[in-house]
Amino acid sequence: MSLRWGIRRKLVVSISSLSLLAAAAFAITTPQRVERQAMRAMMARGRSIAQMTAYSLRDAIAVGDMRTVNAMLQGTRRDPDLAYVVVTDTSGGAVAHVRGVSVAADPRLLDAAALVANGTSDEWVGFSSAVTRESQNLGSVYLGLSLADVRREVAEARRQSAEFGVVLFLAGGALAFFIGTLITRPLDRLASTAGYIAAGDLEQRAEVTSNDEVAELVRAFNVMVDSLQRTRDELADANATLEQRVGQRTSQVQAALEQLGMAKDEAEAANRMKSEFLATMSHEVRTPMNGVLGTLALVLDSTLTEDQRRLLGLAKGSAESLLVIINDILDLSKIEAGRMEIAPVPFRLRQTCEEMYALLLVRANEKRLALKFDVAHDVPEWLVGDAGRVRQVLFNLAGNAIKFTERGSVTLAVTVSSLDAADATLHVEVRDTGIGIDDETQSRLFQKFVQADASMTRRYGGTGLGLAISKNLIELMGGTLGLRSAPGSGSTFFFEIKLPIGAAPPALEPVQTVGASASAAARASYAGGTTVGPRRVLVVDDNPVNLTVASAMLKKFGHTVDLARDGGEAVAKARTRPYDAIFMDLQMPVMDGAAATAAIRGREGPNVATPIIALTANAMESDRARSIDAGMNDHLTKPISPEALRAAVERWCPAPVPEE
Ligand code: ADP
Repeated sequence: MSLRWGIRRKLVVSISSLSLLAAAAFAITTPQRVERQAMRAMMARGRSIAQMTAYSLRDAIAVGDMRTVNAMLQGTRRDPDLAYVVVTDTSGGAVAHVRGVSVAADPRLLDAAALVANGTSDEWVGFSSAVTRESQNLGSVYLGLSLADVRREVAEARRQSAEFGVVLFLAGGALAFFIGTLITRPLDRLASTAGYIAAGDLEQRAEVTSNDEVAELVRAFNVMVDSLQRTRDELADANATLEQRVGQRTSQVQAALEQLGMAKDEAEAANRMKSEFLATMSHEVRTPMNGVLGTLALVLDSTLTEDQRRLLGLAKGSAESLLVIINDILDLSKIEAGRMEIAPVPFRLRQTCEEMYALLLVRANEKRLALKFDVAHDVPEWLVGDAGRVRQVLFNLAGNAIKFTERGSVTLAVTVSSLDAADATLHVEVRDTGIGIDDETQSRLFQKFVQADASMTRRYGGTGLGLAISKNLIELMGGTLGLRSAPGSGSTFFFEIKLPIGAAPPALEPVQTVGASASAAARASYAGGTTVGPRRVLVVDDNPVNLTVASAMLKKFGHTVDLARDGGEAVAKARTRPYDAIFMDLQMPVMDGAAATAAIRGREGPNVATPIIALTANAMESDRARSIDAGMNDHLTKPISPEALRAAVERWCPAPVPEE
């Protein structure tokens, strides 16, 4: 791996630069030094030659022996450095003159006078010495030494130092390269090993090739990779174990989920079946209950002995208790199927409470309990809510209060928690001075089937459903149901609901029923409660007892009654004459109530617009909706009381059909 400015390059560049500098300095200073030394030596030599020549010539000059002088000068010529020698007399005139043998012929060397006047040139350096003998001046010796030798020496020094500089530079560079390589090669190998390791190949190790700090680094690196490999192996093992466990758990969870899903499906199917069963049972029980209660009502209305009346009264009370239980079971099935619904309409809470008071007063009096009733004056007269369900909750709470109180009082109190132009939040309390409920029971009291006393010897009857249903109803109304109680200190059940403030429905004049569209008006006109005269009514039911009961009740009110045992018969009868109202069972053989209604409504005939009222043991909210969808005007559930039947006739046919 090569670095852009790697260690080697840095080393090479820096050491080469240093050696280049050193070489340059050496190449520059060495010739200068050599030149200085050579010049110094030449100066000393020149002076010494000049003196020695003057000395050796003095005797010959003193005696004027020019032959000897010349011979001696000729002798000096052999010195290769000598450029010239000139001997002058005391007047300065040249008396002898020779040129060196080794110097090149230079015309300037021929002119002795000029040499005496200026002995130094670019080619030689001049020296002089006086020729004296016994303190007598005899003349002078002038000589020049050639600079050629000095120049040669300097040139040689220059060449040598340049060569040395180049060698130094190259050696420095090479050394730097070598050292750099020495350092970087293991580092390069380390880097390439690190690359493999980074790519995941933890088998790789860097090679130790030296025994220096880099080797230490490589060893430390290898140790690090060892531990990395160990850690990775451990991690891989742990991962494998984990994956295995996760796999096992996942399959366990999947299996559990599948089982759970199956169990859920089974539970849902069972729940659905249970709800359907409860609804069917409720229907099946309601049908005979209609017969029982209807017959009892009819018989109780006839002439009886006191004993007979008392016994039949007991039978009626029991049948009514049974009906409460059936209704609770039906409500439970609705709650469990998530089909409990609230149907809000304008109603008068005060009136609802008064009706309740009247109903409960009998039971309270029987137990000698004071029944108090306290609706605050600022409770709005008309509210919008499901009056039937509010009544059911109040009836359950107040009924329980009477049931579980032996002495003292039961109070129903309604106060306003908050009020604005649109809504009223009401706080409703049912207080008693009864047996009270301990904390442990309180915490689970609103669950279905829970009773404070579940023993075989318990004093009070009941199903343990009322509170669960009441709680559900209050929550459906957006409220909460709670209680405060302590054993022996009585109980207070309370709930708070926010209801829109309503307006009284407009009171309408009685209207002739001329078609389905007039039904609503006709229905509204019943608000006035006018009683009606005899009407012709068709009752359709496949159950002969129910047919008999309904017929007897209606006849008792003075109405004329025709009977049909199934839908087909009803359609046939409806074709022959007009009726003021038709009471139609839903579930019948041959043709059911909905089909019969469609047939009566769909054809030309005297009963196209006649009010048709479902009279059925199907008591679910959805059943009511189905009846209305099928074209019926109303939906009454069995068991039907004589009063309810009379009210229905009054509601739906205020004016009689014209007699034929
Ligand atoms: P039921 O009254 O039909 O048993 P509920 O759901 O209405 O069913 O009540 C459940 C239980 O709560 C009752 O059995 C009773 O033990 C207890 N309970 C309800 N209201 C009161 C009350 N006012 N005082 C004492 N106990 C009560």
